[in-house]
Amino acid sequence: RAKAAGRGDFRIFNPEVDKALLERLALENDLRHALGRNEFLLAYQPEFDLQTGEVVSMEALLRWRRPTGEFISPAKFIPVAEETGVIVPLSQWVLETACRELKDLRSTLEYSPRFAVNLSPRQFQQDNLVEMIVSTLEKYEVAPGNLELEITEGSLMDDPEKAAFSLHLLRQHGIATAIDDFGTGYSSLSYLRRFPIDKLKMDRAFVTDIQVDKDSAALAESILRMAHQLGLKVVAEGVELPEQLDLLRHLRCDAAQGFLLARPMFLPELTGFLLDHQEKG
Ligand code: C2E
Ligand code: MG
Ligand code: MG
Ligand code: MG
Repeated sequence: RAKAAGRGDFRIFNPEVDKALLERLALENDLRHALGRNEFLLAYQPEFDLQTGEVVSMEALLRWRRPTGEFISPAKFIPVAEETGVIVPLSQWVLETACRELKDLRSTLEYSPRFAVNLSPRQFQQDNLVEMIVSTLEKYEVAPGNLELEITEGSLMDDPEKAAFSLHLLRQHGIATAIDDFGTGYSSLSYLRRFPIDKLKMDRAFVTDIQVDKDSAALAESILRMAHQLGLKVVAEGVELPEQLDLLRHLRCDAAQGFLLARPMFLPELTGFLLDHQEKG
């Protein structure tokens, strides 16, 4: 690269930058082929009702397993999938796979659990999103009331008109929607009020210190109070400690998700977990 520069124009060769760039290009290239090579899997993490202890829903979380056996975090590859457009076929794969696996689960459990799928901002802006979702549900005979879509505040703010239109359409079809990572974006509850959404997933950041820090607890309490006034259910994310769970229950949080209650699991383990949970009642 230094050679390509004009006479007297020496660029500084930075091995660190070059390494990062090469890694990024390799990741992009691998990601383009990963779908065809069957390298993706879904893990599911249940959400629990804080009053009854029942599993209210389970969130599908994408996993990329490289041929070496190494797992790559969605936090790392989802943004790349968004930039390269791979997100479009990939999200279709996520929905189809979740529906297919749900059918399996349904026959074992003898009831149909609700499940949630994450949508990135770019997916949410896709023109035929609702049709794509509805026809996939039909194909796998999944009732629309069994599906919940998780979107972030950013998905609403890019094009609020279009977002509101899609959300109304989803509601007409009986598909529920949740705001993921609530509190990390720049929207307020009064802003969210204009959109037909069903629940908020309160970000882990509000839960982490709740048991030791009065301000954190006060913040969580006010989110809960306002959300309830607007008729929204609240799920706490990232619950890791029993003290957090107790406090959230005390604050009348509706549901919780986190490593304390259940980790994300692949289908066989999830099936066992749900059967076990059902038995215990
Ligand atoms: P998210 O939707 O907010 O998912 C929750 C993340 O928190 C998951 O990370 C989950 O494993 C993790 N988590 C759950 N409980 C705990 C806990 O108690 N403590 C801690 N420290 N972490 C906990 P994961 O699976 O790595 O996913 C990261 C993000 O990637 C997700 O955040 C979501 O935004 C995105 N993502 C995952 N799957 C998909 C997908 O299929 N499509 C899209 N568009 N995005 C996805
Ligand atoms: Mg989510
Ligand atoms: Mg979340
Ligand atoms: Mg989160």
